[in-house]
Amino acid sequence: MSRAIEVGVLGATGMVGQQFLALLAGHPWFTPTWLAASERSEGKRYGDAAAWRLAGPAPEGVPDRVVESATPGMGPKLVFSALDASVAGDLEREFAEAGHVVVSNARNHRMDAVVPLLVPEVNADHLALLEGQRAARGWKGLIVTNPNCSTVMLTMALAPLRQFDLRACLVTTLQAVSGAGYPGVPSYDILGNVIPFISGEEEKIESETRKILGAAEAAGVTLHPVAVSASTTRVPVIDGHTESVSVSLGARPQAEDLRQAFEAFRGLPQELELPSAPPRPLLYLDAPNRPQPRFDAGRDGGMAVSIGRLRPCRVLDWKFFALGHNTVRGAAGAAILNAELMLAQGWLD
Ligand code: NAP
Repeated sequence: MSRAIEVGVLGATGMVGQQFLALLAGHPWFTPTWLAASERSEGKRYGDAAAWRLAGPAPEGVPDRVVESATPGMGPKLVFSALDASVAGDLEREFAEAGHVVVSNARNHRMDAVVPLLVPEVNADHLALLEGQRAARGWKGLIVTNPNCSTVMLTMALAPLRQFDLRACLVTTLQAVSGAGYPGVPSYDILGNVIPFISGEEEKIESETRKILGAAEAAGVTLHPVAVSASTTRVPVIDGHTESVSVSLGARPQAEDLRQAFEAFRGLPQELELPSAPPRPLLYLDAPNRPQPRFDAGRDGGMAVSIGRLRPCRVLDWKFFALGHNTVRGAAGAAILNAELMLAQGWLD
């Protein structure tokens, strides 16, 4: 890349929006030049509209930037969306109609048959759905999405198990409070507590996983046949979603086969050496008490998923833990990796 591409961030003042700004600071291909949010923030100095809530200072210059109105047609061609789901459906579509390439975190368009739901290491070929999207929608721009934060980690862990005839998966999540946005869950509700309900989350994990692991064809994606049952909980952790996963595998692999599959797992981002691609997407941790969110969520800048405690399951076949950073690999970092792949493959030309 000879010159960085200008990008916008919709929802720049939120939890995920701030993670976008942190990850885009110094990015070799993308420069954030346009920060947009709601009417509440519009026209204000960023530092007055939103307190910086990530560790470390805000990227240089960000606090003095003016927050723009999220108006389609304004801002650069490529926009990352960290919009609240209550407004993302219509606004993202309007941006695509106006010619923007929208790379979104929000749930609204993920299960649309002509919208790629991308985890670049797992289903980079699903970008081919964009041809159908152009034909079916007639937008001047495009929409590409990344999954729900818990689904990203789960699909990365399951992708190398497809070769063993992946039939069923039980997953229980322990999700960090940063996943609920800001201000999110009241401290009185979460401190010293576990909340066994996150609205819509189990349904998203169960449906999105089968689309991501499925096969893309001209008419859409044929869902992977794996049966997924999810139970989700919110726990008093700041960053990092942990998942307890049990799987049924028809091919009856041994532990060493699974371990080797996790460790050998690579995808197109590694082959293309995309800037945000972790060298090894899955890190198998040997210590019996890992992975842990405080120590492992930030591995490889938050882009690697840690796996541990692989052991036989007496109900299904095997069980293990997976952990990833929910606002990096599960949100802003995922979208940036999607855009890097799109740029490398000519979708932003
Ligand atoms: P958040 O902290 O509540 O931020 C929401 C953002 O949307 C704010 O910038 C807000 O601007 C903006 N917004 C709200 N209404 C708007 C409108 N009418 N027009 C323009 N902007 C508007 O939420 P978040 O946690 O960052 O999540 C953002 C999106 O990513 C959501 O769709 C969420 O489901 C998804 N997601 C989040 C995570 C995570 O781990 N947090 C992971 C994956 C996906 P103001 O500040 O001006 O109100």
